[in-house]
Amino acid sequence: MRSVALSFAEARRLVVETVRAAPTPKPVEEVALLEAPGRVLAEPLAADRDLPPVARSIRDGFAVRAADLPGELTLVGEVRAGTVFEGAVQSGQAVEIMTGAPLPVGADAVVMLEHAVREGDRVRIERTVEPGEFINPQGAEARRGDVLLCPGTRLGFAQIALAASIGRTKLRVFRLPTVAILPTGDEIVPVEASPEPYQVRNSNAYSLAVQVARAGGRPQRLDVARDDLDETRRLVESGLQADLLLLSGGVSAGKYDVVERVLSDLGAEFYFDRVLIQPGQPLVFGRVGGVFFFGLPGNPASTMVTFELFARAALELLAGVEEPALSFFRVPLAEDFRHRPGLTRFLPARLSSDGRRLRPIPWRGSSDLPAMARANAWLVADAGREYWRAGEPIEVFLP
Ligand code: AMP
Ligand code: MG
Repeated sequence: MRSVALSFAEARRLVVETVRAAPTPKPVEEVALLEAPGRVLAEPLAADRDLPPVARSIRDGFAVRAADLPGELTLVGEVRAGTVFEGAVQSGQAVEIMTGAPLPVGADAVVMLEHAVREGDRVRIERTVEPGEFINPQGAEARRGDVLLCPGTRLGFAQIALAASIGRTKLRVFRLPTVAILPTGDEIVPVEASPEPYQVRNSNAYSLAVQVARAGGRPQRLDVARDDLDETRRLVESGLQADLLLLSGGVSAGKYDVVERVLSDLGAEFYFDRVLIQPGQPLVFGRVGGVFFFGLPGNPASTMVTFELFARAALELLAGVEEPALSFFRVPLAEDFRHRPGLTRFLPARLSSDGRRLRPIPWRGSSDLPAMARANAWLVADAGREYWRAGEPIEVFLP
């Protein structure tokens, strides 16, 4: 196989464009509203009535006719949320109104309680108001029939509340894609094992299962494949039954790194097998038949980083997300920072609790899981720059 090395941005774009262009069927199911958080909407949600359905007051005070002010008005009643004022406000009249109550017919503005002096059934207002003041007009937020959420939207609490507000108790969402997780390596033993000093517990199956679930997939953990062609092939074939296959380990250039051989024998198309990042440089992305796969490098930091940067986008697209997001923002460094240019680095760091300072965490390289677990952010070091001074902003990613 020809080796293809890409920059971080090129690789990311290639993953998104390739998966987006693939004709993947996206089955739909219906779930109860409170089963829907985290799922991806598969239908448009439209307003069942104007929002708000009537003009409402947004203050406690008096519903008036703006043209009457300033002046002294006669109070002809009151209206609170959940009721309507049956009559109409005539010139020279006012109705006491509470926040959220529908504006009485005839009134065109609300004067705040604090701006009026009430004496019995009289109310004196010594200021002018504009028509529409302190009123949320009918349909100001949406018109009946307006599409409020489009298919491809990930559902969080605000979207669930919106669905509730338009009377929906069930929603059509995309089925969760299945994601096979296939760890490889002769040294990898189950978490329950008492490992020999030369053995490593299978932590990647756990980080990946959590990352997959969080990104909207259904993780399926396969047995660990020994670094052996036949066994790896058997497990890869079983992993290709899923909607997406994630392999961990076995993609470096070592003599026993058999993953690419096996995939190639199965007729894989490879899009790239190296990305100019650290951790995670020997990352493989390809497809066998209709199933995309990632060969994630086995070191724990490499596996986590490459999943978040690349595999997550593929999974989200398979899950029906319209626009997979990857956002970096900039935060001032708490100390000087230097790296060797040429690779984009994603390094464990601590973002201060107020979000205003980023401090890199000392780490021993891609195997340093303790450092990754202490991090609440990843510092993103540009491949083209070597040195940042304390106080200078640097990019950060929140995993
Ligand atoms: P590899 O990418 O196969 O060269 O693996 C690199 C290193 O990653 C290995 O030496 C292991 O220490 C570690 N590693 C590989 N697979 C796993 C796994 N499933 N869980 C934890 N660590 C792993
Ligand atoms: Mg290995």
